[in-house]
Amino acid sequence: ATMPPLLAAMANAGRHGVLVKNAVVLERLADTSVVALDKTGTLTEGRPAVAEVRVTAPGALSEAEVLRLAAAVERGSEHPLAGAVVAAAAATGAVLPPASGFAARPGRGVTATVEGHRVDVGALERLAPDAAGHPATAAAIAEVEARGHTAVTVLRDGAPVAVLGIRDTVRADAAAAVRGCAALTSAPPVLLTGDNPRSARRVAEEVGITDVRAGLLPEDKVAAVRALAERGERVVVVGDGVNDAPALAAAHAGIAMGGAGSDVALETADAVVVRDELPAVPAVVALARRARRLVI
Ligand code: ADP
Ligand code: MG
Repeated sequence: ATMPPLLAAMANAGRHGVLVKNAVVLERLADTSVVALDKTGTLTEGRPAVAEVRVTAPGALSEAEVLRLAAAVERGSEHPLAGAVVAAAAATGAVLPPASGFAARPGRGVTATVEGHRVDVGALERLAPDAAGHPATAAAIAEVEARGHTAVTVLRDGAPVAVLGIRDTVRADAAAAVRGCAALTSAPPVLLTGDNPRSARRVAEEVGITDVRAGLLPEDKVAAVRALAERGERVVVVGDGVNDAPALAAAHAGIAMGGAGSDVALETADAVVVRDELPAVPAVVALARRARRLVI
């Protein structure tokens, strides 16, 4: 017996590495007029590594001590940046002390109490705006970002003590995927990221995106998606993180990266790229359009 066209299309999407949750999603994917992609973990591999540790409160802590404290907090986070910090601490042979009162603030960073000190790790200007003027820390952040890396600040009891420079590799297939999206949509692809503008522009240039929106909190990503929708766009959002979940929900259709994607992103999305191959995104849009022609 032959399969009904929609069912066949869903099976076909599965062969292309995209798990589509139901047939309505195919209909929505066929409508796509613009694709908005997250940076960290979506356009990049999401396997970032600590490239440098800059202690900005001299005498306070050694580089190894900074990594040990930061990793004790990041152990509780599923953010790709957290994995980098934990791996860097492990490479120094550190034994991580327990952390209590862990709290993650999506798009900002993480906080916990370690050895009697409150430790914050994340984006300084959003985590602790009052401390953003600290001269040595501000200088270290500027230098790290000028390299196209992500600056993650470590604070102890509210005072900045170090800046970590974290490097992430752009996926080898990201530029091809962006070209594929651009060829299928009326508006050029958009980059939505919580990371800093310098690092965002560097990645955007590498993959061929000109519409870059950086420094976004999770709710800002939602606002960007809604603004596009109000212009009449049917926005497909592609993301991997907890910070992307609200935007995935607000999208015409949300696609999560399955490989390292967070649970909440996978649950919120309408479709999942199973093998983390970004070109599966334009492939599934093209397939959804062919399926619609067959059904109508
Ligand atoms: P993206 O949109 O590129 O995936 P996110 O919104 O996840 O980025 O994160 C934005 C910024 O918030 C990061 O660049 C980092 O500075 C900070 N941040 C968020 N979570 C963490 C964490 N667990 N550890 C360190 N920094 C974090
Ligand atoms: Mg991400």
